[in-house]
Amino acid sequence: MEIARRCIYCDHDAPESSPAIIMPFVAHRALGYAAVEITPDWGLRDVPVGPCQARCNTLHCPRCGGLFMDLRFGEPELSALYADYRGPAYTALRERYEPGYVQRNEALGRLSHAMAVESQFRGRLPDRPRILDWGGDDGRNTPFRITADCCHIVDISGKETLPGTQAITPALALAGDYDLVVLSHVLEHLSSPISLLEKIAPLTGRGALLYIEVPYEKLMGELARGNTSALWQSKRHWHEHVNFFSRAALEALITRAGLDVKQLVERQDSPESSVLCAICSNATA
Ligand SMILES: [Zn+2]
Repeated sequence: MEIARRCIYCDHDAPESSPAIIMPFVAHRALGYAAVEITPDWGLRDVPVGPCQARCNTLHCPRCGGLFMDLRFGEPELSALYADYRGPAYTALRERYEPGYVQRNEALGRLSHAMAVESQFRGRLPDRPRILDWGGDDGRNTPFRITADCCHIVDISGKETLPGTQAITPALALAGDYDLVVLSHVLEHLSSPISLLEKIAPLTGRGALLYIEVPYEKLMGELARGNTSALWQSKRHWHEHVNFFSRAALEALITRAGLDVKQLVERQDSPESSVLCAICSNATA
């Protein structure tokens, strides 16, 4: 694990900092820090009794406007958090810390927006494209899954993937040849989004387009519209999304990885939910 000292998007060397906490479910599952109450029998002379949360800081980049948690999980913590994602152990622990999670999660319905994504690629891809969905879960949201010539999925969860798709290793994927690489709802979870983009960039050198989709969190929309520059300090807790993207932050990250942004748009899926969608290509293409 590391503490970030620079902007994880544009590499600015002086992000601003404000106190926050890691949500108890994430602290427990990723770090093994179960919620705890400090009681008088701890015998701590100078520490007040009461519930104790895992601390972190919110960092804000004054140049690109991106927000992120300063604590950057390593491989063991990310594996602990995401292994068998939304499986029985994950769900039981989350329900314990966040009562009503199961019901809310089911109500959300995990609507697929594959068709909305596909419409952005009209005329840009072959009729039967070769698709790589990095972080594609079981393939249920993979665009072009039905018409694809091949549909490969790389995912940390280890789940079985849907018929017509094939789960492959990261090494095989990076050696592959694709028309479209999909990175949808992945980068907001990663400690080092630039590392993954740099790894994937060579695939675009072989002709693939890269599609990136990240949540456009409500606070980021408010920051973009608002004129109170201190609003970012209202981000007092961090859950699974450890990176909150502004448009400029996403653009800076993509450019740093040696990619060109061909299109960057906001898509509003419901009154409460928006995403940023970017189509990228190799900068030298
Ligand atoms: Zn920045």
